[in-house]
Amino acid sequence: MRILLASRNAGKLREFQELLRGHDLISWPAEAPEIPEEGAFFQDNALQKATFAKAWWDGHGTVPVDGVLADDSGLCVDALWGGPGVLSARFAPGLERDPKNAKLLAMIPAGAPRTARFVCVLAWVPAAGEARTFGGCIEGRLAMESHGDNGFGYDPIFIPEGHDQTFGELSSDIKHGLSHRARASRAFLAGI
Ligand code: IMP
Repeated sequence: MRILLASRNAGKLREFQELLRGHDLISWPAEAPEIPEEGAFFQDNALQKATFAKAWWDGHGTVPVDGVLADDSGLCVDALWGGPGVLSARFAPGLERDPKNAKLLAMIPAGAPRTARFVCVLAWVPAAGEARTFGGCIEGRLAMESHGDNGFGYDPIFIPEGHDQTFGELSSDIKHGLSHRARASRAFLAGI
């Protein structure tokens, strides 16, 4: 299939190259507008992104696509009552990855549970037919400090269940075996 990915997040795009290997992926063009993300839930945001991108591509796209795929994802921390969650991309704006991760860790009260999960919702808007959504989640816990440079975003502070190292330290093969995005991508590939 030829799939337009409604995202400019370089980390997500790298992962989709692996997770959707064998499909022809088109990234969101530089000249295209910013994709809005105003929903209250991961699902709202994913659908808003995919629907917006499909409408723009219908008017401006250079090649036909089989559909548009959007990812809305985030880190939900129990000690922060689920935050930053759907606002993960907007937490501590202006800070680079490492100070942002340090700021988040500093918000966890001493002795509080460090359990957390990554959540990913994918929205698929096909060239013809109904929009659909697919979800994936990986449970884990927050590290005491950042470790590793692999991946992107909150990867250096998240230790997935069954492991003792963060996604920043684990190989991309391991992340792609169990991550929220990998699980949602498998559901998408099995479901369409
Ligand atoms: P959004 O889906 O555009 O709202 O952005 C999701 C944000 O959640 C990203 O910018 C990252 O900060 C974070 N995030 C989502 N998935 C991952 C992941 O796999 N690793 C690390 N951070 C992630």
